[in-house]
Amino acid sequence: MNEAKGYKKILAVLGAFALLGLSGCGQEETPEADSSLQATTEQTSEAVAQEATEETTEAATEEHLDYENQDEWDFESGEMQSPINIETGAAEAMTTDGSLALDYAEEIIDVVDNGHSIEIEDGGQAKIAGRSFELAQFHLHSPSEHTVDGESFPIELHFVHKAQDGRLAVIAVFFKEGTENAAFQAILDDVKANEEATVASGLSLNVAELLPANKSYYHYLGSLTTPPLTENVEWYVMANPVEVSAEQIAAFNEYYQGNNREVQPLGERSVLKYEE
Ligand SMILES: [Zn+2]
Repeated sequence: MNEAKGYKKILAVLGAFALLGLSGCGQEETPEADSSLQATTEQTSEAVAQEATEETTEAATEEHLDYENQDEWDFESGEMQSPINIETGAAEAMTTDGSLALDYAEEIIDVVDNGHSIEIEDGGQAKIAGRSFELAQFHLHSPSEHTVDGESFPIELHFVHKAQDGRLAVIAVFFKEGTENAAFQAILDDVKANEEATVASGLSLNVAELLPANKSYYHYLGSLTTPPLTENVEWYVMANPVEVSAEQIAAFNEYYQGNNREVQPLGERSVLKYEE
């Protein structure tokens, strides 16, 4: 027992000398070296933080989530608005099959002047990239809401669809000046007739005439373009416009001209191109 105690004592003394030796060696230099080392570490971590991806930042934020005050949590909003300017050169080719199969009813439920557009209540089905949507209505904007490489069109038609789970999808069609469009004329005539009558006209429409034959499109995730500006709306903007006459454009503009929302920043979003 005594022997062991004595051995420990020697170790303790040796250890103390070792510590003295260490601290005595370049005592003034050591703190400098330490602080410069620390500074380097700080700089490195700052640089890393600056270069950090959004994911890392989000992960760091999540560590400090206050579950006691969940109503104070920030939520992302306003970054995915519509319409946008479509830069055709920047559009990425879609890597999956995005084909459209549209089967819209020719028997129109009603044509309504709702105070901000002419809205056509119609039914029918749309298969968009293999998923089923139901047509709710379509309506018109003048001039177009979306622009293509900065170019605006006289009119833009929006086919508004809803999926069973509530997801919204809008197919947009540009109208450009050209030959008269029979389906568009039927809508204009119906609006005119309904100025005096409030009864649904029982209008029958060849809706296909309001769509281009080639259904190539630009796709991105956006929003409704009227309040509440709900986000996560799927947009399918037809690449090929439909022709209507100059007289028809003028006739529509007697009802609404300037019912287009300004283009919104694309931000981090991608625009995809589907070629039919
Ligand atoms: Zn619209």
